[in-house]
Amino acid sequence: MTPTRETFGNIPLSSQLAFYALAAASMAVFAWGVYRRWKLWRLGTSINARDLITGSLAAVWQKIRGGAKRVAVDAGAQKRVFGHGIGTFAHVSMYVGFMALFVGTVLLEADNVLSHIHHALKFHEGAYYVAYEFTLDVLGLLFLLGTLFFLGRRLVKPPALGHRATDWYVLLGFLAIGVTGYIVEALRILWQQPTGIGAHCSPVGLWLAGVLHLDVAAARSSHFLVWWIHSFLVFGFIASIPFTRLFHFVAGPMHIFLAKNVLGAMPPVTMEEVEATGRVGPADIRHFSQQQLLSLDACMECGRCEEVCPAFATAKPLSPKRVVQDLKGAMEKTAAALAAGKEADVPPLHGTVIAPETLWSCTACSACVNTCPVRIDQLTFILTLRRHLVAEGALSGTAATALRRMQSNSNPWGLPAAERTNWTDALTPKS
Ligand code: SF4
Ligand code: SF4
Repeated sequence: MTPTRETFGNIPLSSQLAFYALAAASMAVFAWGVYRRWKLWRLGTSINARDLITGSLAAVWQKIRGGAKRVAVDAGAQKRVFGHGIGTFAHVSMYVGFMALFVGTVLLEADNVLSHIHHALKFHEGAYYVAYEFTLDVLGLLFLLGTLFFLGRRLVKPPALGHRATDWYVLLGFLAIGVTGYIVEALRILWQQPTGIGAHCSPVGLWLAGVLHLDVAAARSSHFLVWWIHSFLVFGFIASIPFTRLFHFVAGPMHIFLAKNVLGAMPPVTMEEVEATGRVGPADIRHFSQQQLLSLDACMECGRCEEVCPAFATAKPLSPKRVVQDLKGAMEKTAAALAAGKEADVPPLHGTVIAPETLWSCTACSACVNTCPVRIDQLTFILTLRRHLVAEGALSGTAATALRRMQSNSNPWGLPAAERTNWTDALTPKS
C-alpha cells in the first residue's frame, strides 16, 4: 500500500470550515498588528522605498540584489547569529525547525487544495510522503531543543538579555505547539494504523504512539481534541507575532534588506536642509529615517551590542541596546501624542529620552554595529544625536575641551600646533 495520509483525516467538514475561518481571523490580526507598526515607521523621513521597484526588471534587480543577498546570507543562512557558542546552536536549531514546520504546513495545504481540484494532483504520498514525514519528525525535535534552551536562558536571565512578560508566553507557546504536534501525530498513527515504512517514517510519533497505547476509538476522539488544541495554539501564535518579541521575524529581514551599514559613514547634511528645517541632526523621533525607525522594531534585545560595548564595560552611562530601546519607546510615545493631537507631548530626544552623557560616552568603535544580528546601526543613531548637540552648542566634557583647544591651538591636546603630529613618531617604521 502506498504510504500516505489525508490532510484532514478524522476531522469533520464543519471543523475544517471553522479551522479556515480561524486561520483567516488570526492572519487578519497579524496583518493589523503589522499595519500598526508600519504606521509608526512612517513617522520618519521618507526613504522612497517605492523607487526600489520602479523601472525595468534589470533596473529593479540592480537596486534590490544587494538587499536580497543580505537577507539570504544574514537571515536565511543566519550568518550574523554565528559565533555565540551554544546560543548560536539553539537559535539555528529553532530557526531550522520552525522553517521546516512552516514550509511543511504550506506544502500540506498545497497538496490538500490540489487533490481537491483533481485526485491525480495529490503529491503527499509514496517516496515524497516518507521523506516529508521523516524530515518534519526529526526537525521538530530540533525546534523543541532550541525552545528548551531559550526557556532555560529565561530562567537564568543573563543581564544583557532583555526580559518581557510576553517572552514566557512565546516560549511556552512554542513548547506547547511542538508537543501537541507530536501528540497529534501519535494519535493519528494509533487510529490510522499505518504499517511498514508508512509508520516508521515518523519515528518520534511512532514511539509516542507506543507510549500512549490507546485503542482506535479512544485514539480517534483524542486526536480530534488535541488537533483542535494544536490548531488554537498555532493561530494564537500567528496573531501574536506583531505584539511580541517574535516581531523580529518580520522587521528583522525587512531591515536587513534595507540596511547597508557603511561603518563610519555619517549621513550628509546640506545647507539647504539646515535652512529648511532650522536644525542639524535629530531633535525628535520624526527626524530619523523610516529605515531607522523600522530598525527599532527589529531589535530583539539580545544584548550582543551591550556585551561588546567598551563604554558599557567601563561603567559609562551607555548601553547601545538601551539607546535602541529608548528610541523605540520615544517612537511609540510620539505616535500616541500625534494621534491624540497633542504635539506638545512629543518627547524631545535630547535630555528627555537620551541623556547627553550617554551620547558623549560612545567611543565610535562600531563594535555594536558589527555584532548586531539584524544590522541595526546604533552608532549612527548616537552620532547624529551628538551632531545635534554640537550644532546647539551643547558640548561638554572632553569633547568640548578638545574642540576649544583645536580652535585656539589647532591641537586637541592643547600643545603647540607644530607638535600636533608628534604622537605619530613612535609609529613611523624605521628604515
Ligand atoms: S541592537 Fe542588535 S545587538 Fe543590540 S540588542 Fe538589539 S538586536 Fe541585539
Ligand atoms: S560604537 Fe559606541 S555604543 Fe557602539 S560599541 Fe562602540 S562605544 Fe559602544
